[in-house]
Amino acid sequence: MADGAARRIHELSATLSNQIAAGEVVERPASVVKELVENALDAGATRITVAYEAGGVRSIRVMDDGHGIHRDDLALALRRHATSKIATAAQLQRITTLGFRGEALPSIASVARLTLTSATDGGSGWAISGGENGDPAPAPHPRGTTVLVRDLFYSIPARRKFLRAERTEAGHIDAVLRRLALGSPRVGLTWSASGREVLALPPGGPDQHQARVAAILGTAFMSHALAVAEQAGELRLSGWAALPTFSRASGDTQHLYVNGRYVRDRALTQAVRRAYRDLLHGNRYPAYLLYLEIDPARVDVNVHPAKHEVRFRDGRSVFDFVVSTLRRYLAQGGRAGGALSANRSISDTAVSAPHVAPAPGRPRSAPSPSVSGDLPAPRLTIAESRSVYDALAAESHSMQPTAQLLDDSEYLGTPLAQLHGVYLLAQNRRGLVLVDIHAAHERIVFERLKRSFKTGGIVRQPLLVPVTVSLEPGAMTALERAEPLLERLGVSVQVIGPGRVSIREIPALLASQNAEGLLRDLLSELSELDSSEVLDSALDSVVTRMACHGA
Ligand code: ADP
Ligand code: MG
Repeated sequence: MADGAARRIHELSATLSNQIAAGEVVERPASVVKELVENALDAGATRITVAYEAGGVRSIRVMDDGHGIHRDDLALALRRHATSKIATAAQLQRITTLGFRGEALPSIASVARLTLTSATDGGSGWAISGGENGDPAPAPHPRGTTVLVRDLFYSIPARRKFLRAERTEAGHIDAVLRRLALGSPRVGLTWSASGREVLALPPGGPDQHQARVAAILGTAFMSHALAVAEQAGELRLSGWAALPTFSRASGDTQHLYVNGRYVRDRALTQAVRRAYRDLLHGNRYPAYLLYLEIDPARVDVNVHPAKHEVRFRDGRSVFDFVVSTLRRYLAQGGRAGGALSANRSISDTAVSAPHVAPAPGRPRSAPSPSVSGDLPAPRLTIAESRSVYDALAAESHSMQPTAQLLDDSEYLGTPLAQLHGVYLLAQNRRGLVLVDIHAAHERIVFERLKRSFKTGGIVRQPLLVPVTVSLEPGAMTALERAEPLLERLGVSVQVIGPGRVSIREIPALLASQNAEGLLRDLLSELSELDSSEVLDSALDSVVTRMACHGA
């Protein structure tokens, strides 16, 4: 640019500013689908049909039977910051619709060819294409709206290059639609890819909700899940939480909705994890589908353009409500279903899936789901399991704050036999107790680490040969932040180059074979912590992670 000209200011054209907004709102075809279906839901549709071709890049069509758009508003719908959903600052403080920013349609129209056809009654319809300067033309349409989006990113070839294989994009669309279908269970949602129907979910009442969840998350999830419904003042939590026996190796079955909106909220995810903490191995993920309803004035959804994040006005009470509700359901539901122990001394010591055979005279409960799910458990010798058992029995007296409330029948009792090198069968006054020796060992390491942390420090052991680890930029940042904490936890690490660190010491209580795994786990655990959360309040989850490495 010529001298001086570089410093002059001009207003961006509408197209350019829309394309800039599209950078945030329209990441890929699935984002278009999300925005269009959310608009249909906001319009009160009872049936929505989606059809896309070539992974959504060639075309996406979303049709609904909602209230439609007035002819004179069609051009406005394509103009930036034009919306029918809010009008005042007060309304922004209590959002009840999925959209409100007035950005989606103009953004999409600036990076693809968009046609909007709509009718507010059954008679006549109007269509507009070519953006906000287009002219509506008559087009017959039943009450409702159809949006057709073709040639996504034709105007931004650089963006198009970032798209993945059609199959991958189709997978993202599918995931988005499943999420939307779970978020609005009463609305009928049908979709097809390149002319082939993928899923047809009928509209329906509350009893159909369960069928829809089973269709989307699987019948196995459903049969291992507790139905949750709890209200406390203006807060309501409902949905399904799977028993610990249905834990997963990744967080792929974790669905959270706040006022019908799918969110990925760290604090809420932490809350659920905390509720499961004593019931799951540190490396297992709970499976759940939960709906939180809250007064819209108490949650801010205007945090991110794609609105995946929310901010609660009183995060602490929401957190506590979720933790305590789920804890109670897991404890009670587990007992009723026979999947969890009624024996407090064991369930409190976090044997991952403890089972108690009913005492004589007590009615038999329903058959329990398979013990400890799909966890591969290495076999132990009888001597090994005996020594773990003895340690557990000793610890269970010393670490129970509620010990004085429990009578003798609550304790582990006398060991009888070892089963499959994995479980130990014992007997107390209430009946038989089955202990998962591996999980028990983990718990013992956990308690010892926690105690030594609290009483002046974890004993560390230098590694004979320091372990060199390459870390991604994200992990390096986490490391910088967490270094003092790691030191306190008995892990000392030295940065030896860009993205390279060397592990010098680890806690003496942990086996040293996998110092790298220990470091990576701790970093991911520590990076998930809310910055406001001090280590002491998060100590349990951090130490749980560590304990896995000692077993
Ligand atoms: P927002 O949803 O944030 O208001 P959009 O750009 O997504 O912004 O949509 C702009 C406006 O167009 C909406 O406020 C709504 O009035 C109208 N609109 C969009 N899609 C539909 C639809 N499927 N049915 C009825 N009205 C719609
Ligand atoms: Mg919208």
